[in-house]
Amino acid sequence: MSETAAEAVAIGPNILQKILDTTRECVLVVDASLRVSNCNVPAAVAFGRDGLDLEDKRLSEVIRDLDLHEAFQRALGERASSDIRLKIHAGGRKFDVHVAPIELGGEPHAIGFFYETTQIDRLEIVRQEFLSNISHELRTPLTSILAFVETLEDGGIEDAENNRRFLSVIRRNAERMKTLIDDILELSLIESGKVSVDIREIALAAAVGDIIGTLSAKAGEREIKLVNNVADDAKIAVDPVRLDQMLTNLIDNAIKFNRTGGSVTMSHERTGERDAISVADTGEGIMPEHIGRIFERFYRADRSRAREIGGTGLGLAIVKHLARLHGGEVTVSSTLGVGSTFTVEIPAR
Ligand code: ADP
Repeated sequence: MSETAAEAVAIGPNILQKILDTTRECVLVVDASLRVSNCNVPAAVAFGRDGLDLEDKRLSEVIRDLDLHEAFQRALGERASSDIRLKIHAGGRKFDVHVAPIELGGEPHAIGFFYETTQIDRLEIVRQEFLSNISHELRTPLTSILAFVETLEDGGIEDAENNRRFLSVIRRNAERMKTLIDDILELSLIESGKVSVDIREIALAAAVGDIIGTLSAKAGEREIKLVNNVADDAKIAVDPVRLDQMLTNLIDNAIKFNRTGGSVTMSHERTGERDAISVADTGEGIMPEHIGRIFERFYRADRSRAREIGGTGLGLAIVKHLARLHGGEVTVSSTLGVGSTFTVEIPAR
C-alpha cells in the first residue's frame, strides 16, 4: 500500500471514457458514494455476472471484497492510492489491483485498474511443483547411493561376497539419475519451442523393426512378443529421430506395464488426412481416473511400482510434445485387465 497521498488527476468524463475503452485491463471508477460511475468493457465482462449492468451499482454489489472496498475508501477519503491482491471466488480469477484518487467533473472519484494474474499465478504453481518433483525424484536415488557408499566405506569394500552387488546398486541409481536428467533436459528443450522437426518420408515398417531390434532383449526377459503389423509399403512423413523417440517410449512402456508372456503390437492406419501409428499391449490397463493425467510430467498411476520398474514419469509428456511438434496428438484407450493402446496421429503430407 502506498504511504504517500497521490495527486488527484482532473480530466473530463468523455476523455476518461475514451481512455477506458482502449484499455485492455479491467477499469472501474466509483463516485463518492462508492457507486460505479464508469467502467470499461473488460470490467463489464469480468465483473458483470449474469449480464449485470455495472453502472450506478454499489461497488460492494459488483465485487464483494473487504480489502478492495477499503482501498477505494482510502482513495476517496484520504486521497491515497493503494495496491491490493484480489481473488474472485467464482471462477478463481486473480488480479493485482491499483486504486487511485481521481477528480471527475470537479467531484472526487476513485479509479481501480485490475491487472489479471490468474495465468501467471498458475504458471508459478506449475513451476514450483516441477521443482519439487525434480528434487524428490533425484533425492531417492541419491540417498541410496550415499547409503551404499557409506556401507562400502564402513568395511563393505572388504566383503568379497557383497562388494560388487553394492557397486551395482550404486551404478543403477546413478544411471537412474542420469536418465532423469536427460529426460528433463529433453523435455525443457522441446517445451522451449527451440526444437524443430525435420520431416521426411520414411518406410514405417523398417523404422518399427529397428526399434523392436533395440528393445527385443528387454522384451525377451519377460517373454513378451513384439509384433510388427505395419504393412511393408507404408510410408509416412515424419521426423525420423523424433518418431524413434516417441515409439521407443511407447513400446518401452508397453513392455514394462505388460504381463509375463504378453505381447506388444505395432500397427499403422491412414485415416483421411492423418497417419495413425498404434502401440497395443496386453498389460494391466490404466484406471479411468488416471487416463486423463498420465501425459502430465511426473504423473504415474502407481508411483512406487513405476519407480521400481525404472520409470521417470516423463516419457509420455515427451511423446505428447513430440506429437504436437508434428501438428499431431497422442491418445490412449485402455481396458483394465485387457491392455492399452497408445496412438500417435500426425497429419499425412
Ligand atoms: P514412466 O517413466 O513411469 O513410464 P511415463 O510418462 O512413460 O512414465 O508414463 C506415465 C505413467 O502412465 C506410468 O507410470 C504408468 O502408470 C502409465 N502408463 C504408461 N504406459 C502404460 C501402459 N502401456 N500400460 C499401463 N500403464 C501405462
